[in-house]
Amino acid sequence: MDKLPFDIDAAMVGLREAVRPFPKAAMFELRDDGYGSPFEQLVACMLSVRTRDETSLVAARRLFTVARTPTAMAALESAAIDALIPDVTFHERKAVQIREIAITVRDTYGNDLPCDGEVMRSFPGIGPKCANLALGIACNQKRISVDIHVHRVTNRWGYVRAKTPEATMVALEAVLPERYWVEINERLVPFGKHVCRGDRPRCSTCPVLDMCQQVDVTSHR
Ligand code: SF4
Repeated sequence: MDKLPFDIDAAMVGLREAVRPFPKAAMFELRDDGYGSPFEQLVACMLSVRTRDETSLVAARRLFTVARTPTAMAALESAAIDALIPDVTFHERKAVQIREIAITVRDTYGNDLPCDGEVMRSFPGIGPKCANLALGIACNQKRISVDIHVHRVTNRWGYVRAKTPEATMVALEAVLPERYWVEINERLVPFGKHVCRGDRPRCSTCPVLDMCQQVDVTSHR
């Protein structure tokens, strides 16, 4: 069957509806819970790296109950931070890095993490994905954060063709309207987990089936 040209506006309408029954992406859930400062978003994203959202979300809430600001976090020993995030992947290293970031923000930036990507990416353990999520969600900047779900889904659509999440980010910056730069992550994380899954995506009930090229999809439901 011939596919329709990919219409990103129609796709976003369908995606919003399709992900409604599922849990929100972790950083957006935390924002909606009131943990929306640049520091909280950056720390929460670091916790989520190589950790399931279900786990990192609980750990972030546990940590923020004790310390939400750089000053409060810096007052904790690394071991105390570690004890609050024990189920997070690489928790020992992340505890040390979170404390280092907290101390730098307290001492250099007056306890207020600036909305500056260069500053964020200079911190240990922070790459473009987390910096862009924090800038997009907490700072209202137009940034695209590409995780494995955003990478897989947009390439299956045929909307971009890129081999790595980093290359997908650059490709999306060229074609995706800016109004969707933050929202694309918010929608495609739950969509990639529950509909366009890595293994046997649910194409038969997918809202964008008529315009998705299904690139490299060999078996689906
Ligand atoms: S049609 Fe299939 S491959 Fe394409 S977005 Fe939907 S679930 Fe994914």
